[in-house]
Amino acid sequence: GLTARRDAIKAITDYKPLHAPLNFSETSLTEMFGSNVFNDKVMRERLPKTVYKSLKKTIELGEKLDASVADVVANAMKDWAIEKGATHFTHVFYPLTGLTAEKHDSFLTPDGMGGAVAEFSGKMLIQGEPDASSFPSGGLRATFEARGYTAWDVTSPAYILENPNGTFLCIPTAFVSWTGEALDKKTPLLRSMQALNKQAKRVLKLFGVETKLPLTSYAGPEQEYFLIDRNFIFARPDLLIAGRSLFGAKPPKGQEFEDQYFGVTPRRVMSFMMEVDRELFKLGVPVKTRHNEVAPSQFEIAPIYEQGNLATDHNQLVMTVLRSVAKRYGMVCLLHEKPFAGINGSGKHLNYSIGNDEVGCLFDPGDTPHENAQFLVFCAAAIRAVHKYGPLLRATVASASNDHRLGANEAPPAIMSVYLGEQLTDVFEQFKKGEVKSSKKKSVMNIGVDTLPPLPMDPGDRNRTSPFAFTGNRFEFRAVGSSMSIAGSQVALNTMMSESLDYIATELEKTTGGKKTKLNEAVQNLLQKIMVEHDQVIFNGDGYSEEWHQEAEKRGLANLKATPDALPMLSIPSTIELFTKYGVLSEAELRSREEIYLEQYCKTIETEANLMLRMSKTVIFPASFRYQSELATACANLQAIGKEFGTTTLDQLTANLRGMQKVTYELEALLEGDKGNSTLEHANYFYKTILPAMAEVRKHADLLETIVADDLWTLPSYQEMLFIR
Ligand code: ADP
Ligand code: MG
Repeated sequence: GLTARRDAIKAITDYKPLHAPLNFSETSLTEMFGSNVFNDKVMRERLPKTVYKSLKKTIELGEKLDASVADVVANAMKDWAIEKGATHFTHVFYPLTGLTAEKHDSFLTPDGMGGAVAEFSGKMLIQGEPDASSFPSGGLRATFEARGYTAWDVTSPAYILENPNGTFLCIPTAFVSWTGEALDKKTPLLRSMQALNKQAKRVLKLFGVETKLPLTSYAGPEQEYFLIDRNFIFARPDLLIAGRSLFGAKPPKGQEFEDQYFGVTPRRVMSFMMEVDRELFKLGVPVKTRHNEVAPSQFEIAPIYEQGNLATDHNQLVMTVLRSVAKRYGMVCLLHEKPFAGINGSGKHLNYSIGNDEVGCLFDPGDTPHENAQFLVFCAAAIRAVHKYGPLLRATVASASNDHRLGANEAPPAIMSVYLGEQLTDVFEQFKKGEVKSSKKKSVMNIGVDTLPPLPMDPGDRNRTSPFAFTGNRFEFRAVGSSMSIAGSQVALNTMMSESLDYIATELEKTTGGKKTKLNEAVQNLLQKIMVEHDQVIFNGDGYSEEWHQEAEKRGLANLKATPDALPMLSIPSTIELFTKYGVLSEAELRSREEIYLEQYCKTIETEANLMLRMSKTVIFPASFRYQSELATACANLQAIGKEFGTTTLDQLTANLRGMQKVTYELEALLEGDKGNSTLEHANYFYKTILPAMAEVRKHADLLETIVADDLWTLPSYQEMLFIR
């Protein structure tokens, strides 16, 4: 830790602002916002009216893109990008590895006379052909047919990314195989939004609400992250390669470092945050809040919610920008769910709702009884959905890194339940008991108006232990990990909601026979039925408590603790039926996802275990042996002059070092062991055999850290990394 510590302190004390303070009065915030986006304003300025209208229709109403339009749009986009200094264009896509992938092509085409012209056709805009063989397909693509293609997603605007050495045009795309199977996260998300639109419209229609615009999901992801001085990261192979520390003794409470370096903190971190915001503003990402988080060196950034697909692309951009700007400030942004054991981890609360500009947000209780009734129906659909498909929802947040966080008394438990708050729960319980009565004379508008307490209710769950909490006008899904794409959970939520809304629409259509006058009673009966069948999923208490775990089991709610328990939920019959019915994912596509995610789980833990072995042998043993030898020498010296040597430290060190060697070589042997045949067996081997063995190694190493002389221990400690900023 010595050199890293010295370098980090130097980096902080020597810190000079990278550039003159950003002057927002020169370029106003509103002017800057979206300045690098091929947005509506740019399109209106640069496209012929008919082309603009046609494209707009495609974007807003989801209609097919006219091929003749593509050439004109591409040309305008190219001119705009080149004016902004772009030399290349790239189709951006989101493979199942969770990263953002890009393939860059230059605009230049030889003109046949030794020169070159800038070219960008409609075809180049709407379709790309990246080599797909380097991306996992989970058996979807036959090995001889490694090609996939990217297709422009018109609902997510193109943008320009600036680099010190040039800028390039980015086109958000879906990534599919030649046979049309989804190889990415965007394709199923778009499909799920279509399904949701269709079913939500059926329900609204029963309430006499018609809307031209598609109904979409809305998402507002709150992104947590850690910022650590990069000098420390260079001295920590675990943080560098695995993104989390595999070793590290808990810092003692009341660290002096905290006071010592606190004053320096805001400057560098604030500069970083300002620059992140500015970069994101230019990219049209509506970042709104930034603040410190619970753990030292932990922060959060949250944009204003947007249409789900856009919010997903924007969250990927947020993660990219956080990482790259941190580097500029001599720091590393850690997006891992649990970089430091015993310290709060990072999540990504996914605020989720449904609606559009015309009808507003459908999880908003509204002011009129009519809106209230509609709200209660959509709310009941969500309750039913989480009860029926909780295990699937849990599977969408399963990963090796998120396993360290879920259920660890800082994040929601792995049991999927719904928090409604007392008032709303009470309203639904009244429906369940059949206590909400309406007079026959009253129209559909007056459902339950006499008996319903005024909505909206409590602003939401502040105890934060519920995975799926109603927070006033949305549900907040809190189990998503900080490093994850928010696509997967939304795909599940949209599809689960589609199924529930389909059920509700079908029931109501049947019981009302299309008569508006019968809607009131039909809704009440249906809400009663849904509550009788599904209210077991509602839980407003402390999700961390032991009582809840027992109670949940009694209620029949699954508690899928680890990734190998959760991922198989992607291919159980009810999941396959759900996704195929609404055309979101085929059985083959689901199985490929399960396979790929299980493989990733195994690879992650295998890498960590190997890293652990390497660090044990090359870093921790040497430091411990050196100290042991120092103590032994001191002991021999003292005895030579006839003095007694207190051997407690040496004894402790020796015992621990012996123990550490034993478990390290055991781990090594286990890694070579028979892991079973299927990927699921492998995953279970890593979960049940390798992880406990790794925990043993860590236990010894962390004890050694508290014994061995600080100047011999080369790994920066938790207290250094977290408090020197
Ligand atoms: P808190 O920390 O209290 O949860 P934040 O302001 O940090 O609140 O984050 C709330 C997030 O929820 C923001 O991204 C916000 O835009 C989003 N949000 C608010 N209303 C909705 C809604 N109706 N649908 C989806 N997201 C929403
Ligand atoms: Mg929140």
